Order: sequence, then C-alpha cells, then structure tokens
Amino acid sequence: MTNTRAPKAKLAHSIAATASHARTTQKKPARKPVSGKTVGALQPGHKAPKKRATDPTDPQRVRTILTRLAEHYPNAVCALHHTNAWELMIATVLSAQCTDVRVNLVTPALFRRFPSPQKMAKAPQEEVEELVRATGFFRNKAKNIIGAAQRLIAEFHGEVPQTMEQLLTIPGVARKTANVVLGSWYKIAVGVVVDTHVMRISQRLELTKATTPEKIEQELMRILPQESWIDFSHRIIHFGRVTCIARKPRCADCFLEDVCNSNDKTWNTD
Ligand code: SF4
Repeated sequence: MTNTRAPKAKLAHSIAATASHARTTQKKPARKPVSGKTVGALQPGHKAPKKRATDPTDPQRVRTILTRLAEHYPNAVCALHHTNAWELMIATVLSAQCTDVRVNLVTPALFRRFPSPQKMAKAPQEEVEELVRATGFFRNKAKNIIGAAQRLIAEFHGEVPQTMEQLLTIPGVARKTANVVLGSWYKIAVGVVVDTHVMRISQRLELTKATTPEKIEQELMRILPQESWIDFSHRIIHFGRVTCIARKPRCADCFLEDVCNSNDKTWNTD
C-alpha cells in the first residue's frame, strides 16, 4: 500500500521557495532535477494540490457532501437487524465495541429466548451472558439489557420511550443508542448518531475538529440541516464501510475526493 499523504504544504512551499531563490540569486546554477525528474514534479499517482476551501463547514460544501451521499446511498438504513424498538435498542447496546455483523449473529437466539422486555426482565444473568458473550464486555452488557428491560417494565409500561430524556434513564443507553432508536425506529431527529465511522469521517472531511462523540454531535447538529440528521449517519456509516475505510480509504473511487482535503488520502489499496 502506498500512502500518498502527500506533503502538499511542503511541496508548495518548496516550489515557492525555489522560485523565490532563483529570482534573488540569478548567478547560481539552477537546481538540478533529481533522477531525471523536474524539481517539484508530482510523483506518479499523486494528484495536483487543490485549492483549499476557506471554511470546510461552509453551507455550500456541506450541501455538496449531503447531496452526493444521498445520490450514492439513497436507501442506507441501520445495519442492525430488528423488528421493533425494543430489539433495536438492545442490538445497539450490544454493538458497543463490536461490529454490527457480529451483533446480528447473536441477536436471533437472544430474541428467540427472551422476545420481550417482560421476558428479559426475569432472565437469569448467566444465561444472557452466554447468549451475548461473542459481542465482548458480555457481563456488563447482560447486566445492562436485563436492567433496561426492568426499567421499561417499571417506568414505561414495557414500551421503549420516545424522548431523549427518558431514554437516557435506561441502563446501558447513552446518546448514541438513544439517537439510533429515535431516528431509525421512531423517525424523530433530536440528534446525530456518532459512531466510530461518523466520528472518523466527520474529522477527515473537516466537518469538525472535536474529538469526543458528544462534541462532534453538537457540531454536526450546528452545521447540518435537521432534516438530514438521521440519513446523514446511515449514509456516512455505509460510506465508512465501503469507501472511506479507516486504514485504507479508497480515495481513487471516492465521490467526495474533490471536496476532501484529508491527510489520510490513499490511492493504492493493494
Ligand atoms: S478522498 Fe479518501 S479520505 Fe477523503 S473522504 Fe474520500 S475516501 Fe475518505
């Protein structure tokens, strides 16, 4: 793999410095090309430096990103398998530090054995632990999902509530899970789901300089139109899985390449 985190700033500086130097010291011989290449020439596979947008969160640029995501992934949805709000909430709790694929392998047996909050509220902890073991942190997750079921029975008539404030009182449920349930199931946009893909790609696209999910969510809520909050996360998560991959982003195939100034750009993913 060739990471072309091209030192564009250095390159530009080098070209400018060379030109300036040549102007002020005319008598000195011109710098010789290295290995037959013109000084400052781009290496094969490198792309010419682009003019940097003055403000990466400029509404026009944000609109371009949203439009292209919508064009490429018009039907992106939550990848966690579920048939109701309860299953989605539990699947999302299990997805912490775990892939959606792995969660989807575990939840069919879990929901067959404990299909409702009423059943889960009375589940033996050891049995739930065994069923969710493959998702990691299984003791804590088992404790949380039993506790979540008990809380739904005690406070919400066995139903998954529809407000952020109520959801945040449920064991194991933080803003990400609450946003997933509210957005994907109830279609209520009160925040932006910030998972590892949304976090990484929002930073790569310079939509945020923040480094914590909470702050990134606040910044995304500030620059994205509210009607895009739900789909933005679905689409960015899909984009992060197929194109803007963490270690080897497929920049040559990327439909956002011309608006991306990331230092992580990679052209060769062999
Ligand atoms: S150009 Fe590369 S780093 Fe930038 S968004 Fe596309 S895949 Fe990600």
